[in-house]
Amino acid sequence: MKRSLARLLDALTHTGPGYNPPHQPRRGDDIDQWLKAQRDAAADHPEAYQAADGLLDLYRLHADTRTPLTEHVCEGRVIGDCECFEGGAR
Ligand SMILES: [Zn+2]
Repeated sequence: MKRSLARLLDALTHTGPGYNPPHQPRRGDDIDQWLKAQRDAAADHPEAYQAADGLLDLYRLHADTRTPLTEHVCEGRVIGDCECFEGGAR
């Protein structure tokens, strides 16, 4: 009982050994390099190349805006650009 209370406190304050901060995407990190390698490996397959290139762009957008991968980076500028605009504030 005491232990689960301590764990709850850790969870609430985002501290303790069980807490891993969310991955922070960065240009040039392992995932960036992996995505780039996948894209370059698909050079002979335009559809796969474009898909991988799109993912790399999206990953770098997260990196540039310092948005964790679990959160939505909105590229919409006006209503109708993006689903999150149409749905209103959630
Ligand atoms: Zn959006």
